[in-house]
Amino acid sequence: MRRIVIDKELTRQIIGWRRRLHQIPEIGNDLPQTSGYVQAVLDEHGIDYALYVNGNGIVATIEGSSEGACVALRGDMDGLIITEQTGLDFASENGHMHACGHDGHTAMALGAAVYLKQHNDFSGSVKVFFQPGEEAPGGAKPMIDEGALEGIDAIFGLHHGNFEPEIPKGSFGVRPGPLMAAPDTFEIKILGKGGHGGLPDKAVDPIIIGSHLVQAFQTLVSRESKPTDPVVISVTQFISGTAHNIIPNEALLGGTVRTVSHDTREFVALRMQELADSIAHGFRGEVDFSYEFNYPPLINDAEATELAMTSAAEIVGEDRVVLLDGPMMASEDFSFYLERIPGCFMHLSNPQAVDGVSYPLHHPKFTFDEAYLEVGTSYLIQVALAYLRQNK
Ligand SMILES: [Zn+2]
Ligand SMILES: [Zn+2]
Repeated sequence: MRRIVIDKELTRQIIGWRRRLHQIPEIGNDLPQTSGYVQAVLDEHGIDYALYVNGNGIVATIEGSSEGACVALRGDMDGLIITEQTGLDFASENGHMHACGHDGHTAMALGAAVYLKQHNDFSGSVKVFFQPGEEAPGGAKPMIDEGALEGIDAIFGLHHGNFEPEIPKGSFGVRPGPLMAAPDTFEIKILGKGGHGGLPDKAVDPIIIGSHLVQAFQTLVSRESKPTDPVVISVTQFISGTAHNIIPNEALLGGTVRTVSHDTREFVALRMQELADSIAHGFRGEVDFSYEFNYPPLINDAEATELAMTSAAEIVGEDRVVLLDGPMMASEDFSFYLERIPGCFMHLSNPQAVDGVSYPLHHPKFTFDEAYLEVGTSYLIQVALAYLRQNK
């Protein structure tokens, strides 16, 4: 299929939308100003849409010139509670920050919607998602719960940002199967029996129990999970005690578990609980164990990934589409869509230095190279049209 070419005028508009959105970052699933801005652009171009999540989420529909399949593209619209330090002319005006580049995602999704509306000589239809939040608690799940995925055959999306060195600047990176992890969390209250620091035989020490749990959990990674199936267990909180001479009553462990397969995820949660119970009992204590399943692992459909890679190659050339050799252990709620319908999520590397350094996503000096907004938009259009052509 021929490479999509976006004209200079639309490219200029995409950059303009991004800059305006960058000034007005909002948090989570309540972003009336952002959603209102996107709706105004859609109205201006005569694009139909439906609203979700209390009027914050938007799904725009662009009908082709004949019947066919329905494919979705996804943008996300939320910022972060970070005070911007980029020094950009169009820096945030309200104390929050688009530090995850979702301003760019929204602008690219708008660009795709406007282009497709102007060039609707395709079979089928394209739905463009503007989901409200992506950062926890996330907008994908409530959009799905309200029926936004109904009638859609496949979905494609991308995340841009600084993905060097794994993905060189200007390249796409992807893999079939697991691309990103489930970011679950746990909290374990260890109940011992407090006492005098000099008389341990009269007490049950929750700190000893906690220490053994921290060690034991790592054996789930090193001894019980397949070495080829990545698992991260990080105990990031160990809170207990008040004085040198007091054995405390309780200790609290908290942390995160990252997995990339559904089975391993269930297995690790179950084994953590078993270890916590049995080790605590072994040392005469008790635990109160809680484990929260958050976003699922993001698992790309193999066939959709092949189509995504071919489409990306049309835009940037085959040598700039990187097949990643393993998943990234960060997470994305695009995974909820992929649990229900086939699709593919891509990374586009477009780092941009501030004061000589390219900062990572979620950093107060993060920004991206706007020259690649055209590339990302073209890819979204290319893959949507390729899907509709393949599924007439
Ligand atoms: Zn983020
Ligand atoms: Zn993000």
